[in-house]
Amino acid sequence: MHGCTEASTAHSAPHARGEAWPILSQCVASGQCVMAALEVFDQREEDGVAFVLDERPSADSLEEVREVVAICPVVAIRLVE
Ligand code: SF4
Repeated sequence: MHGCTEASTAHSAPHARGEAWPILSQCVASGQCVMAALEVFDQREEDGVAFVLDERPSADSLEEVREVVAICPVVAIRLVE
């Protein structure tokens, strides 16, 4: 088990062309990602740290994830494409 201060999606295998997924680290529990991309992110009840719900977001959700990457106050979210 790992905490959400580490990468919450531990992909090690190469991904197929055209796929993308969010990676999350160093979260400070501000909540913007959940508000902007509700289907992709959620927050732990105990401390509000975010985690990735959907590791393979749809095209629509990917647009939201791109927005979240830009608004996260601590740049905790990275989108691997
Ligand atoms: S926007 Fe960033 S700091 Fe805020 S909850 Fe999401 S990952 Fe954590």
